[in-house]
Amino acid sequence: MECEICGAEVKHPITIIVEGTRMNVCPRCASHGTIVHGAQRDPTRIRKHSRYKQEEDFDIVPGYGKLIRDARQKEGWKQEELARRINEPVSTVSHLELGKMLPSKKIAQKLEKALGITLISEAPASDAKPEHMPSTPITLGDIVKIRKR
Ligand SMILES: [Zn+2]
Repeated sequence: MECEICGAEVKHPITIIVEGTRMNVCPRCASHGTIVHGAQRDPTRIRKHSRYKQEEDFDIVPGYGKLIRDARQKEGWKQEELARRINEPVSTVSHLELGKMLPSKKIAQKLEKALGITLISEAPASDAKPEHMPSTPITLGDIVKIRKR
């Protein structure tokens, strides 16, 4: 059969993915896309669940102080009232609202429950790595150009 990129005769074509499209190509052209290894499973998807094993691995959303204050004021509570409801000192509530102190996971969860807000981000910034890119990116437009040669 012919390589779908350069048109060369190839006995054992290699299947690659280019922009989500499967192509059978010769070994020379295989570097233009992501090589498919037999099974259709995507190994990068399996790893994502492992994060939940680390319970202390969490981030507090940016601007949490304003979030807490706005939610508290919406309820019409004073800081003392919120402090009583989450069973923490008023000084803690005050410091949290001013952004002087990061809530522990326990306090953040109590605040989320009391105020109906989201403070804990389940995707820590340190773990958010960009997707792996093929070493030689190519677009379908490029392939059309190659074939016209
Ligand atoms: Zn080729």
